[in-house]
Amino acid sequence: MMKMKKSKILLHICCGPCALYPLKVLYKEGFEVTGYFFNPNIHPYQEFRRRIRALRQVAEIKNLPVIYDTEYGLRNFLRAITYREDKRCEICYLIRLEQTVKKALEEKAEAFTTTLLYSRYQAHSLIKDIAEDLAFRYKVPFLYKDFRIGWEEGQEEAKILDIYRQPYCGCIFSEEERYNKKLRRRLRRAKNESL
Ligand code: SF4
Repeated sequence: MMKMKKSKILLHICCGPCALYPLKVLYKEGFEVTGYFFNPNIHPYQEFRRRIRALRQVAEIKNLPVIYDTEYGLRNFLRAITYREDKRCEICYLIRLEQTVKKALEEKAEAFTTTLLYSRYQAHSLIKDIAEDLAFRYKVPFLYKDFRIGWEEGQEEAKILDIYRQPYCGCIFSEEERYNKKLRRRLRRAKNESL
């Protein structure tokens, strides 16, 4: 695992509740953390606003400086994944992490990491691979942590602090998968068959 001195780190944040546990870990290790909200994958617009509000709440409680990209990225996101919907998560991670590494350079952060590594529902190894590749290409160290070990702790804290916890990942496709029972059954079947 990478060893680095206590330094300024840019933490890509997908949403408020997912930031709680990673923040705890990073603060404990003495990092100077700046959050970065860049998530063009969150739809529809009201949900996008709701997640920004939840993060503002967390930032205030944790005294966390956050850079917010508040531009609603629906159109660019859809253009990037159209006809490649089956690869949409990979593209989504790449878009968000590449922008994060660029921001880390701009902000002169000594490393970057992401709250995506906290979620049990994301493709953890894929996120790690993409981030490591970006770190190599842009020459900015990536701090890998398996934040999933603090899943329950983070969720519990979000409940106590009464932070909005979203019911689906972010894009309109994940919203459909969350609420369309038939589609969920079909996806589950396809997944089982591929095992
Ligand atoms: S399901 Fe989540 S990770 Fe995958 S494309 Fe949609 S928002 Fe991005």
